[in-house]
Amino acid sequence: MIVHQAEAVVLRTWPIHEADLIVSLFTRDQGKIKGIAKSASKSRRRFGGALEPMTHVLANYAEKPRQELVRLDSFEIVASPLSNSVDYTRAAALAFYAEVLEEILPDRDPHDAVFRLLLAALEQTHTQNIWMPVTYFALWILRLMGWMPDVMRCTVGGEPFAGRPAYWHAHADGLVCIEHKRLAGSTLSPESQALAIRIFRQPMAAFSEEAWPRSRAADLRRFAIQGLERHLERRLTTAVALAKLGG
Ligand SMILES: [Zn+2]
Repeated sequence: MIVHQAEAVVLRTWPIHEADLIVSLFTRDQGKIKGIAKSASKSRRRFGGALEPMTHVLANYAEKPRQELVRLDSFEIVASPLSNSVDYTRAAALAFYAEVLEEILPDRDPHDAVFRLLLAALEQTHTQNIWMPVTYFALWILRLMGWMPDVMRCTVGGEPFAGRPAYWHAHADGLVCIEHKRLAGSTLSPESQALAIRIFRQPMAAFSEEAWPRSRAADLRRFAIQGLERHLERRLTTAVALAKLGG
């Protein structure tokens, strides 16, 4: 039996048996793991409010050889999403991060850049400001998974966009120029192309003072989310919720 203490973020929980929960946890050291929290709903001392998805915790757990599920012993809260006001908008953004990571991260494959991206997104996601962190997060996940095409030139012919719109299609990789555009493609404006380049050069906090209504870079957000969905080969439930909010 190996005992761990790891920084982690709670992704999801499922009830099993009476008071036990299965918890999906994104740990900094071991990547995504799943464990059993015995009597979790009875034991406030061991888990308190720490099982809420997107809670940043220090997790104490034990690993047995050849067992897929670890034994979760206790969590200490580092930062809770419930310490700020949660309205429907903010809840939708937090649920989006959780679903994307639950779907995308392979088990037991640490990814420190994704972990840091998530902590930044949690820090920046406020009731009045979800569209910047959601856009930044989705675009960077696409890039960190190796799925982000060049935003400066056409994927097919290599021509620079040079201030002209780029186009994409929900069922194809890449960004293309008008010559190589398919029917019914979507447009990525020159402003959003420039913003994507800034997003890849600057930390999320650099954008925190900028006004970011949901209309800003909505094309870039759709591009990033459709890219994630195409690679996952399924719709993200939480992206539908964001779309209903106008995202
Ligand atoms: Zn082209």
